[in-house]
Amino acid sequence: MEFTTAEPFLHKGLLQSFELTKYILKTNVYPREPSPLKELREVTAKHPGNFMSTTPDSGQLMGMLLKLINAKKTIEIGVYTGYSLLLTALSIPHDAMIIAIDPNKETYEIGLPIIQKAGVEHKINFIESQALPVLDKLLQNLNNEGSFDFAFVDADKENYLNYHERLLKLVKVGGLIVFDNTLWGGTVAQPEEAVSEDRKESRRSIIEFNNSVSIDQRIEIALTPSGDGLTICRRIR
Ligand code: SAM
Ligand code: CA
Repeated sequence: MEFTTAEPFLHKGLLQSFELTKYILKTNVYPREPSPLKELREVTAKHPGNFMSTTPDSGQLMGMLLKLINAKKTIEIGVYTGYSLLLTALSIPHDAMIIAIDPNKETYEIGLPIIQKAGVEHKINFIESQALPVLDKLLQNLNNEGSFDFAFVDADKENYLNYHERLLKLVKVGGLIVFDNTLWGGTVAQPEEAVSEDRKESRRSIIEFNNSVSIDQRIEIALTPSGDGLTICRRIR
């Protein structure tokens, strides 16, 4: 399996090694990546925000989680061109659904033709909005409480704790909430003065989020150094 046009947006990730990152992708991830996801990755590679896509190795892990828990009702915050969204749509059953929230419909529309071609658009309810008002509206209907199997959060880091509180009510006991970028390029373990100005604010939010979930008795957690750090939270009460 050779690296193709999608290679330009390959980054070293937390491994800090192109060789090791390539090794993982080349041996285990790309050979099993469904072709619609490959196509979406290649289309996204031409977009200036391509570094924002969920990394294919994290995608592989998420696909496994979705299948392990037999997720049917899911929610995603932060869609961009839809790599994680398409991955979710491909990993859940035909009659399952995803509420996908992002204020930027234009980037969603970049991936939409590929989602349509893959025959999974019917599973997706895309809501063009900031996420917090949508979550609050969902919570106004008591039927939504504890009704979701899975949530994926990959948006503004400053709101991670706000999303966490709301998603804990929406996701059922035994359900999963997965947060991306929880190691923020490794900066969480660096002194603040070593971090570039544009990364400081989100770094602070991520550190606050990590500290908070680490002592949160309502969940079990696993922080895996996949991609830019993926925190898997399992609601237990
Ligand atoms: N998961 C996506 C993927 O696999 O391609 C990448 C998401 S990208 C890192 C972050 C997205 O969050 C952007 O598309 C941005 O528009 C969206 N976003 C930013 N602020 C948001 C908010 N308050 N609510 C929902 N989405 C938001
Ligand atoms: Ca991300």
